Amino acid sequence: MKIGLTGGIGSGKSTVASLFEACGAVLFDADAVSRELTAAGGAAVALIAEAFGTGVVTPEGALDRAAMRRRVFGDEAQRRRLEGILHPLIAQRREQVMARAAGRSVVFDIPLLTESPAWRQRVDRIVVVDCLEATQVARVVARSGLTEDEVRRIMASQASRAQRRAVADAVIFNEGLDLQELDGEVRHLWAHWQACETMLRL
Ligand code: ATP
Repeated sequence: MKIGLTGGIGSGKSTVASLFEACGAVLFDADAVSRELTAAGGAAVALIAEAFGTGVVTPEGALDRAAMRRRVFGDEAQRRRLEGILHPLIAQRREQVMARAAGRSVVFDIPLLTESPAWRQRVDRIVVVDCLEATQVARVVARSGLTEDEVRRIMASQASRAQRRAVADAVIFNEGLDLQELDGEVRHLWAHWQACETMLRL
């Protein structure tokens, strides 16, 4: 079973992903894959340099994210060009993870799943981690050092809570739960979906 996991910034996606992993799922972390591909020596860096010039590569050989952001900001053609490089590499990683999973369920942690029809089509079920916007802001400010305004700007650029819930097969409301309670929610959903899979195979 392919489970798509999403939620707004600071909702608790990574925490929930680890809890699914503890249940026995194989994890595909889209952000981690993108970071790896664009880190020094990453498979995407040479291709990006070829397409955009060395101005978007740091002296250490990693993607210069700030420079790249400036290039693609408001420029649809450039953004598509970058995606044309990254998407096939991400697809390769996805196939590798699926092969390694050998039939076990895979959890795809995709922050922008709601915004991506292609990703939504690739998964069998979608679980959304949801919480109040004030909680998102408090968690991200505490963790990242971003200001409240910066966090709210990021939130405004992402899908709304209602848009995410509209594509969800299940919602985990990560509000007022301690980690043990959150773990209970994840285990419950995991057991339910595994049982559904078994029934479908009968
Ligand atoms: P991002 O989109 O920024 O990557 P995320 O959605 O993956 O964030 P996490 O990194 O899982 O969110 O959680 C954000 C922060 O909130 C972390 O510091 C995490 O430990 C904390 N957190 C998440 N859920 C809970 C909870 N139920 N109780 C206490 N802390 C929590």
